[in-house]
Amino acid sequence: SPWLATQTSHLTSTFRSSSFVVFCLLTPTRACDLKLPHCTVSTPVFMPVGTQGTMKGITVDQLDDLGCQICLGNTYHLGMRPGPELIEKANGLHGFMNWKRNLLTDSGGFQMVSLVELSEVTEEGVKFKSPYDGKEILLSPEQSIAIQNSLGSDIMMQLDDVVSSTVTGPRVEEATWRSIRWLDRCIAANKNPDRQNLFAIIQGGLNAELRKACLDEMTKRDVPGFAIGGLSGGEEKDDFWRMVTLSTDHLPREKPRYLMGVGYAVDLVVCVALGCDMFDCVFPTRTARFGSALVPWGSLTITKKQFAKDLQAIDPDCQCPTCRRHSRAYLHALFKSDTAAMHHITIHNISYQLTLMRSMRQSIIDGRFPDFVRTFMKRMFPSPEQYPGWAVDALGTVNITLN
Ligand SMILES: [Zn+2]
Repeated sequence: SPWLATQTSHLTSTFRSSSFVVFCLLTPTRACDLKLPHCTVSTPVFMPVGTQGTMKGITVDQLDDLGCQICLGNTYHLGMRPGPELIEKANGLHGFMNWKRNLLTDSGGFQMVSLVELSEVTEEGVKFKSPYDGKEILLSPEQSIAIQNSLGSDIMMQLDDVVSSTVTGPRVEEATWRSIRWLDRCIAANKNPDRQNLFAIIQGGLNAELRKACLDEMTKRDVPGFAIGGLSGGEEKDDFWRMVTLSTDHLPREKPRYLMGVGYAVDLVVCVALGCDMFDCVFPTRTARFGSALVPWGSLTITKKQFAKDLQAIDPDCQCPTCRRHSRAYLHALFKSDTAAMHHITIHNISYQLTLMRSMRQSIIDGRFPDFVRTFMKRMFPSPEQYPGWAVDALGTVNITLN
């Protein structure tokens, strides 16, 4: 078998435990057991996004029933309202949400730059006006870590200087070097390195030289994991996968890689092939609210007239609570009168993402991942001529041929 199954010390001293890791010897693909404080996470993994301590359109019990082992908490919203003090009193975000599994929190920086118009980045941190009371607030690396320490998340993200992936020039260079300096400030500020794992975020935009420099610098730090940042922001897919490959080529094999903001099924499959372990994206839950259900052959817009009399489940092969109970026709009718339809589709879409990741993991462990990819693509696209060129190229570089 070309696959190496090994019991190895997977993570740094922060985790102090050994993990199961399967590396493919032909491709950068891997499957791991990530030992986190609240439970073991099977990778590759998709992490649903929560906001203000609750998932949009789904409860924590439903998320638990779907077998979700880790989800995202939103630092920007939680840091503003109800505020870190109240959440600390409620035994952290886990207690506040009543969520027994793992949580990953972001630094809060991305939301500030993307949601708050009046934000300004200086060496000190991100300055912005509170959308609630107009007061000037500074989110420094130290402040971001203090909030995340109060939230008690299992994985925390460093504050980084975020620039859009379509921006080029000196601003990208400034942001990259600043993110490295802020990483050091975040490491120094972490009060709970024994139970809260701080991930670095690799920046560098679409500039290969700069991204490589950032990789060289950040991998000198003994952080428990690395995120690949600054992508999935509207750049060309060709630039996207080349930057992912550059990153996974230079990240340490024994630490988890989290590709931020990626959640389309094809992107997930390709980026797992390129060696990424963790993903998050608002897409599956956001699209559900518009009546779009994810299926192995693309998506169904349940509001379309063609489903008004269709008594099949969204996906007859899907085992989720929605597909076991409800037909397309019922959801179509319900969507017109009740937000419950959105909740049903949200559950299905999260189930779709988690099931996709589990099937990929099993195929990696069984040593048949390239076959999985071929079957997946055949099902997703009506004919090979419709395979996206970038996906064919990316998979080709890791010895997965599609025809
Ligand atoms: Zn379903």
